[in-house]
Amino acid sequence: MADGQIDSDSVTNALSTLKDPESGRSLVTMNQLKDIRVENGRLSLELALTTWAAPLWPDIQESIEEAVRSSFPQLAGVTVRRSIHNRPAAKLGEIGLTAKSVIAVGSGKGGVGKSTVAASLALGLKRAGCKVGLMDADVYGPSIPHLLGLSGRPTIEGERIRPIDKDGMPVMSMGFLVPKDEAVIWRGPMLHGAVTHWGDLDYLIIDMPPGTGDIALTLSQLLPLTGAVIVCTPQDVALLDAVKAIAMFRKVRIPVLGLVENMSGFVCPGCGQQHDIFGRGGARQRAEELVVPFLGDIPIQLLIREYGDEGRSDANFDDPAIAARLEGICYRLVKNLAHATAAAPRQPQLPVLG
Ligand code: ADP
Repeated sequence: MADGQIDSDSVTNALSTLKDPESGRSLVTMNQLKDIRVENGRLSLELALTTWAAPLWPDIQESIEEAVRSSFPQLAGVTVRRSIHNRPAAKLGEIGLTAKSVIAVGSGKGGVGKSTVAASLALGLKRAGCKVGLMDADVYGPSIPHLLGLSGRPTIEGERIRPIDKDGMPVMSMGFLVPKDEAVIWRGPMLHGAVTHWGDLDYLIIDMPPGTGDIALTLSQLLPLTGAVIVCTPQDVALLDAVKAIAMFRKVRIPVLGLVENMSGFVCPGCGQQHDIFGRGGARQRAEELVVPFLGDIPIQLLIREYGDEGRSDANFDDPAIAARLEGICYRLVKNLAHATAAAPRQPQLPVLG
């Protein structure tokens, strides 16, 4: 193992300050850096991380490579192999939902692209490698089935409803169970997470009803939410609505994890230029004033509307410019959650050996 001054002890020493983004605990202590070998002047090791942190995998790998290079400049190379560190989700509250983070996507009013952002968060996190479920709780107009091109009836298994599968992602919507107009009447039982069989999730993304009315408020109290993401458009009025939505979540003590500005300018399909019809940057500034993280903006893009109407919202990720925006929002959300964990690490768990 030894190669001059470099051996597995000196490598683990050099990496001892690096933390697992989900637990906030040392990667070394938790046995997530394994199989450290130095051969022919090259270092190789295995880095085991949880799927919860998938959007941050490249960052952590880079930090390891940098720390190794600066501590051992004599090395000819570093190879980091990634593997999955299994850390099961705990059951949340009394409703039997097994998820690590439950994220509500809300807005001050309808039509700002809340469902589009909720679907994009779910799809983006899933594509990065996380285990994700998507719940459409917008009882006024359940549009997730439409945006994802899903239909059919969920089956009942025992006392639970099995969600509809979208390429490995469980999706539940009142729209699967009852005609659209009746969804608002039937909301209670389905929205109570206990009746849906989600399986083990890193993230459950919830498309909330718009606004700050009774239903949104009741749901915010009923669901075991980790936090909320608020979607708004750049217009002043919409921003004032967004402020009301932030106030509602704060009132019920749900952390606001960030603000997303949607329709923040129009990208002309002809010339490719962005025109800021309603102004731009308002949400970023308002987020700063309200001490809410700004997660990113999404311009008006014809493709987003077209893919949505065709039930192919996942195709947004095939367009590099749109994908970059959506992935940036997912990345910042997880990074902020990880920062919160680092500030207050979760309870230690026994390392999974081997
Ligand atoms: P909400 O959930 O707030 O009511 P939706 O997500 O259902 O809003 O979006 C309303 C409409 O606007 C949909 O047709 C959707 O495809 C479209 N849309 C949302 N965001 C954008 C965008 N950035 N560019 C173009 N169309 C968008």
